Amino acid sequence: MMSHSPDCIFCKIINGDIPSAKVYENDDVLAFLDITQVTEGHTLVIPKQHQQNIYELEPETASKLFAAVPEIANALKANFAPQGMNILNNNEEIAGQSVFHYHLHLIPRYGQGDGFG
Ligand code: 5GP
Ligand code: ZN
Repeated sequence: MMSHSPDCIFCKIINGDIPSAKVYENDDVLAFLDITQVTEGHTLVIPKQHQQNIYELEPETASKLFAAVPEIANALKANFAPQGMNILNNNEEIAGQSVFHYHLHLIPRYGQGDGFG
């Protein structure tokens, strides 16, 4: 039984209560386009287990999550043809975390003026 938090927007996306543009899904991991595209193809990768941030993330959840990342990154590379990609994670409000369900941002990069950095 997956652990879900009733008020969590990403748990609602996992449940299908809120629609999302899915990029990838397996039993443990979901990837979908960020509603605010910092650059074209900006994608969030989340564990289906609700864990708030890096301080709560269990090693098993982390390893299942990261195991899916190369395939997702390659799918974005194939679809959007970026020149590079940043992968980042914000923990706590001061660091920019606004959704308290652990997630990685995959941000394709297209060169100077692409909107990020
Ligand atoms: P954080 O600021 O916590 O690192 O990242 C949260 C991200 O979730 C933000 O980039 C924000 O645009 C995205 N986000 C928030 N609500 C939704 C939503 O309902 N759907 C999608 N696809 N992205 C969302
Ligand atoms: Zn959640």
